[in-house]
Amino acid sequence: MSLTVSGSQASTIDSVLAPDSPEALSISLPADRNQLAEQIKLRRIVVLGPPGGGKGTLADALAADLGICHLSTGDVLRAEVKSGSALGKSLKEIMDRGELVPFQIVVDIVVNRLQQPDCAKGYLLDGSPRRVAEAEALEKRLAEKHISTEIAIDLQVPDSDIQARLEGRRLCPKCGAIYHVSFKKPRVDGKCDLDGTALIQRSDDNASVIAERLKVYHQETAPVSGFYESRGLRTAINARGSASEVEALVLKILWRPDVFGF
Ligand SMILES: [Zn+2]
Repeated sequence: MSLTVSGSQASTIDSVLAPDSPEALSISLPADRNQLAEQIKLRRIVVLGPPGGGKGTLADALAADLGICHLSTGDVLRAEVKSGSALGKSLKEIMDRGELVPFQIVVDIVVNRLQQPDCAKGYLLDGSPRRVAEAEALEKRLAEKHISTEIAIDLQVPDSDIQARLEGRRLCPKCGAIYHVSFKKPRVDGKCDLDGTALIQRSDDNASVIAERLKVYHQETAPVSGFYESRGLRTAINARGSASEVEALVLKILWRPDVFGF
């Protein structure tokens, strides 16, 4: 099965904000990242985009630069299971049965996590909301706590790029380091740079599984973009470039939203 970029999808991506757009090029980020972190205007951020679109990489980099917390829903759920709490035990049963965790539980856990001290300066949410109903529940619960998402960064990457990124991805089973056969090669072919362990391919990083994940994304998760769009919070960006180019663009938007008409 081959995935090609449809004309409409390609032109959509070409027309969204890119790292080399005139607005982005008109801004030079301060070299002093501490100074930048203090001046950042938008700090409560939802990162949207397809699987393999670079959400986790972007959120990790931004969280480190801005001193805000990065909540990856998968990590948050795994931490709850590991804690051995009553909730963690019931989550483990659901996940062991291979079922999706009901979104009400995800929202509860995420909202609790967002009220911890490390999230006081802001947050990056990656991996949820995955459905419109979940987005509605999340924002309603946050509003009750007087917290509101300030921007939804929507990473636009064509399906054909995602296919190439995910199929070439290799993982170190020991330390979790991620490599790519074309874009991020290890120093020694097939071995982790950090510990020499033989790299593996995740079982769900193959063409047919990726095509299925993209189909689910377009049907169920992509409408979440519309939810944030209707609230005037969505900014779509062209995320086909390198991770550092994408991060620089997002930092510019968070620092000078006025320049981008936001
Ligand atoms: Zn390793």
